[in-house]
Amino acid sequence: MDERELEAAKAFHGHLGPFLVLGLRLGKFALSALRARKHFGIKVTVHCPPQPPPSCMVDGLQVSTGATYGKRNIELIPSDEIVVRFVNTDTNEHLTLRVPESAKEQMATWLRELGEEEASRRVLETENLFEVVEGAHS
Ligand SMILES: [Zn+2]
Repeated sequence: MDERELEAAKAFHGHLGPFLVLGLRLGKFALSALRARKHFGIKVTVHCPPQPPPSCMVDGLQVSTGATYGKRNIELIPSDEIVVRFVNTDTNEHLTLRVPESAKEQMATWLRELGEEEASRRVLETENLFEVVEGAHS
């Protein structure tokens, strides 16, 4: 993740936060794993709590995958769990990523105790914040 991408996400979303950065990371991972075309070759279904801060991840996903609310290729389905499903619409390959409850709680704790900027840094640097549940691509 370079600084430019973080700045672009912050400019779009209005502030930097751990869930925004989480969305960036998931989207980048999926785009590359599926070798999908940014903007038009990907569909994203986000299952997450439907209010900030967790829902801030939807904006990170929009910036990183280019799937947008206006193009109707990203949608939010309210859920207590965080699970994101990606489809490469050219090949029909798909990938499902899950953020374990423990990681979700960790991010909320960082946000509370360290503030937005530092919590965002932690999310950038920490391994294993999410796992591949299933995917056609191996
Ligand atoms: Zn936010």
